[in-house]
Amino acid sequence: MALTGIQIFKLLPKTNCKKCGFPTCLAFAMKLAAGGVEISACPDVSDETKATLGEASAPPIRSFALGTGDKAVKMGAENVMFRHDKKFVNPCAIAVNIKDDAGDDAISAMAEAVANSEIDRVGQKLRVDAISIECVSGDSAKYEAAVKLVAEKAPETALILNCKDAGTIEAAVKAVADRKPLINGTTDGNAEAMADIAKANGCPIVASANGLDALSALTEKIKGFGVEDIVLDSGARTAKDIVEHNTQARRAALKKSFKPLGYPVINSAIRDDAILEASIASVAIAKYASIVVISSIEKWKTLALFTQRQNIYTDPQVPMQVEQNIYEMAEPTADSPFMITTNFSLTYFIVSGEVENSKVPSRLAVMDCEGLSVLTAWAAGKFTATKIAQYIKESGIEDKLSHKELILPGQVAILSGALEDKLEGWTITVGPREANAIPTFLKSKVS
Ligand code: SF4
Repeated sequence: MALTGIQIFKLLPKTNCKKCGFPTCLAFAMKLAAGGVEISACPDVSDETKATLGEASAPPIRSFALGTGDKAVKMGAENVMFRHDKKFVNPCAIAVNIKDDAGDDAISAMAEAVANSEIDRVGQKLRVDAISIECVSGDSAKYEAAVKLVAEKAPETALILNCKDAGTIEAAVKAVADRKPLINGTTDGNAEAMADIAKANGCPIVASANGLDALSALTEKIKGFGVEDIVLDSGARTAKDIVEHNTQARRAALKKSFKPLGYPVINSAIRDDAILEASIASVAIAKYASIVVISSIEKWKTLALFTQRQNIYTDPQVPMQVEQNIYEMAEPTADSPFMITTNFSLTYFIVSGEVENSKVPSRLAVMDCEGLSVLTAWAAGKFTATKIAQYIKESGIEDKLSHKELILPGQVAILSGALEDKLEGWTITVGPREANAIPTFLKSKVS
């Protein structure tokens, strides 16, 4: 049963020594109760207390990384059933499946495509996070060669080794042990052998069973063999089963503190029909998967899944923002038009999209207004003549321009007079009210 902050506080040294980075033991206890820090951050608790608190304060869904290095994907640690309760913490990893008999060229091409899949959206780097290498050949040497090839061509990508044969897995895991691959293929029949391999190499393991009852028994068995980092595969393959199993597992972990299901979940969405596959992957992302495996990574599919994942895993209490900056579009010169808007991500994407459509080289100043849209920021006093003038002066943009003309969003035309007073020597031009009028407006400026 989870302990409250006060219960945890009673077990701490109460010296307020600050070694944990918190000003008091009470502050640390409160954060520990909320799952925001680990007991190991306090160096002065006894081993006995550590064991008690470690168990009691452990997040209801165990947290660990898929892969290593900068591109490792943190999984688990979720605390709520619904995003609007608080927020979801660790976005679902998207993994693509490669069969070991696909041939070297196809394997290399897919691994390189994954390695180069990163895009930037709303200031976040989004990518295909992992490659699952499936053993279909039944040939240990072939499987190991495929794993090595993928590891070489996608040197930073997390690896999932999907094979039920312990001997084959052991050789493959050893070949890429430094990447801490996720071992996928553990069933009731091979649990001990697979757990030994996972333990010897410090790798997490997927527990695969048919249904949640069998899965609970299997995770307890694997834990008994000394492996703590477990990923759940309940055998769900249809959208209906994925929703049911994933929801029941999360509910059991969160609401009943049922430890055997308190682990991240992997779902396979693989289908021959690409649209159906994308739809099932989308269901898994929406309903609690920590890893979803797909068979191919066409742009239309990954963009849709990236966007959905990003929307679900943003904090609903914090508006999506882009970084304050002056963004250059189509290689502007000193004469190019210069516009300003706010840093609400939707505003930025709509405005920058229309500027790009115009093909007119331009600069777009995006001012930090705490993620509010133009009118809301103006009404909230964050997009005022004084603040805009201060931002423009401090931005250093004057050194890059041969003119001093600032184009203001049409919706805040009311600011133009005051802004001209505050920005001495500048001409303030009122731009379109609606973004779709920007291309015509910009073309008229340079014609
Ligand atoms: S390190 Fe431990 S004893 Fe020191 S303030 Fe933090 S919780 Fe208290």
